[in-house]
Amino acid sequence: MYDRHMELHIDGPPGHAATGRGPDSSAALEGLRDFVNTNDLEGGEDELELPEQLHAWLLARQLIPEHVEVDANAHRRAIAVREGLRALGRANNGEPIDVDQMDALNQAAAGLPVVVSADPDGWRLTPAATGIDGFLAGLMGTLARSMADGSWSRVKACRRDTCRWLFFDQSRNRSGTWCSMAGCGSRMKARAYRARQREAASA
Ligand SMILES: [Zn+2]
Repeated sequence: MYDRHMELHIDGPPGHAATGRGPDSSAALEGLRDFVNTNDLEGGEDELELPEQLHAWLLARQLIPEHVEVDANAHRRAIAVREGLRALGRANNGEPIDVDQMDALNQAAAGLPVVVSADPDGWRLTPAATGIDGFLAGLMGTLARSMADGSWSRVKACRRDTCRWLFFDQSRNRSGTWCSMAGCGSRMKARAYRARQREAASA
């Protein structure tokens, strides 16, 4: 198993208001990545396939209070946000945006209670709810903030169609394409090599 969990180093524009406040934005982005990566497309295993699995996942990370229940509707919205975030990660990797997934994301996010507060040092977005709405509002706030400070452009979904793992592109010029060069990158190179050989053989 190759290492898909690279460390995040955000170096967005210095002194930007969006990074001047609140909890560490890189930690929030790592949380967002971990949520998106609960769906292992390659292994065919979705950790959050059922509402009770989502409930247990959130509870284990203390992201919801114990008494909160996760019903089918809440589960559906959470999955729409998760796959919408992956679609945005694919767009960051130069792939066409999935309009349906964007619509589903924004419908799931509509009505989420987020409070905007400000002082001379900057602004912050805070979920004004607990439970699933609070969790999803927090994700949308993290997304908005990282889009504002530029760090979002490093968040990409792996280009390999069977992978789609969300990763942080650490390359200087943001040219990273695969979740890891040792894993998907080398697989894609090998595939291209075999294709060239086939072409050469048939020529
Ligand atoms: Zn990959």
